[in-house]
Amino acid sequence: MMSFNKRTNLLEEAESLLEKLNRMQKFTDKYSITPSKEARRLVDSIANLAESIPEIESPQNQEQLIQSELKRRLKGESVNIEHLLSGRPYDFKTITDILAIPDEDILSLRPWLEENKEKTQEAVERLFCSRNIDEYELPLASDIPSVRRQAEEFAGVHIQKYHKTLGKFLQGLTEVGVFLRDINAVPTTQERSYFDCLRNNLALSIPAICFSREDGTLSIRDKELISAYGHEGMGHALNFVITRSGKLPHFLTKNSWQNVSTAESVAQFYENVLIEDLKKSPETQRKLGIEHKFSEIYQEAKDTKQLREYRIRTLEYAIFVLGDKSMGNPEDPEVVRKKTDIICEVAIDKNYVQSLVQQNRHNFDSEGNLNSQLVSELRYCAEPVHRGLEEFAKNGVNYDEKGRSMIDSTFLKGLWTPIGFVENARLSAQDIH
Ligand SMILES: [Zn+2]
Repeated sequence: MMSFNKRTNLLEEAESLLEKLNRMQKFTDKYSITPSKEARRLVDSIANLAESIPEIESPQNQEQLIQSELKRRLKGESVNIEHLLSGRPYDFKTITDILAIPDEDILSLRPWLEENKEKTQEAVERLFCSRNIDEYELPLASDIPSVRRQAEEFAGVHIQKYHKTLGKFLQGLTEVGVFLRDINAVPTTQERSYFDCLRNNLALSIPAICFSREDGTLSIRDKELISAYGHEGMGHALNFVITRSGKLPHFLTKNSWQNVSTAESVAQFYENVLIEDLKKSPETQRKLGIEHKFSEIYQEAKDTKQLREYRIRTLEYAIFVLGDKSMGNPEDPEVVRKKTDIICEVAIDKNYVQSLVQQNRHNFDSEGNLNSQLVSELRYCAEPVHRGLEEFAKNGVNYDEKGRSMIDSTFLKGLWTPIGFVENARLSAQDIH
């Protein structure tokens, strides 16, 4: 056990080192070069500090939890800079280490695909039979200024209505709901929605949530708006705002490659939570003006969720197979064929697999490592939330009316590595007794 003073010093030292790292990253961003001597000194200090913290297998209290997470985080940061300085190519393992993706989540991709193949195929057929698509949803003609202005205003009105209505609704469901008041919801012309944590702007993508009918009138894709609000608003935005509001050690409040995969797991979870919440509240559906079509929105959300998950996991599994160096020279046609066959065994859309593999045929470095950008897509496959929920369930706390506030405030407070996130959930769950 560390004394109070020693622990305070440890956190202060970590804060000062991570601040230096942050300054260096800003420098590198501006001048496109890393000051290598300074970086060398920094990486040694970070590694030494990590080394000085005792290894704790399974933390038994808050203090041990913070220490073990700090050790993990500092180690991860030092691996990252160390690699940067070495100039070595990025192999598969280095990237998944930098992103702190648990091996078990990568290894469970194939079993998941096997288990869900039939179910997903059924969802596709059901989706086709249940939906009578009688006209195309056309993209907005944003190149025409009057259309663009009209779309901006149209999207803005709907976003405001959703933000106000959902904000009030969620406040009644969970303690963390009040924090939505600190967030501004605005439209953006970007293709993807995002949360800007410096300005607290929840920016929802106009092209994603709006479309034009064949007769030129504008329409909202309510399902898209609900999932974007769930993912970016209830997930990323609340995660940041609540993290900053709490009394957490500095290192748990800072973005890092070590905690992005957890943040995505959290955001994906809340994307699903919001649609389930809405299902239970006809009154909120009415306030949003979607009660007449909600059952359709809901079923489509469920079916497309299954589809999308299947597609994403197929891509992630393909990355895992493509990145497997043990299968031989990645540009050898025989190896390419073998890899395609392995991926196709669990894929529904074989054409997609074929074109994915072909497109990436030459996307390897001279040592046979798959392109690092592509490998880093695996950050979306970590599933700490799933394990966190299990920890709560073991202690009799479920994600329902009663247990929800407790789980929400645990999940949304702090930026943790996947392992730290689950440990934190375990301790919070045990704390209730
Ligand atoms: Zn996200």
